[in-house]
Amino acid sequence: MADAVPIERLLRDAGYDTPEAQRAARGVLEAQRLTRPGKQAMAVDKIPSALAALDGAFALSCGDPDCAGRAADAGLIAVTVSASACPVCNGSNNQRAATALGERLSVTGLLRLLIVGGTPEQHRQLERLLGPHGIALRCVDAATGSHARRDAGPNLAWAQVVVIWGATPLPHKVSQLYAVAPAGVRVVKFARRGIEALCREVLRSLG
Ligand SMILES: [Zn+2]
Repeated sequence: MADAVPIERLLRDAGYDTPEAQRAARGVLEAQRLTRPGKQAMAVDKIPSALAALDGAFALSCGDPDCAGRAADAGLIAVTVSASACPVCNGSNNQRAATALGERLSVTGLLRLLIVGGTPEQHRQLERLLGPHGIALRCVDAATGSHARRDAGPNLAWAQVVVIWGATPLPHKVSQLYAVAPAGVRVVKFARRGIEALCREVLRSLG
């Protein structure tokens, strides 16, 4: 069988990298007659059907409640795989927390997030993580350049949620400019480092 691949490898490459996940996946492939018990390889031309059958049956996750909870929402069977194969977080605490936050903001209709503090690299990461959820970000790099009341005004008028991110390069004279937000704007203030912490703090403030 030249044009065939080992089923075990096919499943592993598709993210089914635990014995439990491999068993579950084989079960579905056998039920749909895409393979039969004991068969080790699959013809290449059957692979697209096999992958579609798996996609229609399972939601893979690392088992973390934030990641696993999405399986039930989609009406799929939750299957636990290794963290690095988790399509929600890729084994990254930052990505897991940002996904939870992005979804919550999106559902709540809070789509404009102003981040005061943090580094340019953190701002880029937040853009990358939250952008796909439709969240628009404005980030104030408070440590460099000058930042005055005339800069803060338009930012406050734009934002729906203002994050005052202490424990990052954030001079008091800058954070002060954002201390009083217009009515209806939610202000979240905390002093913890890291993107995961930021996402968790904002989530907590949303209740
Ligand atoms: Zn995960």
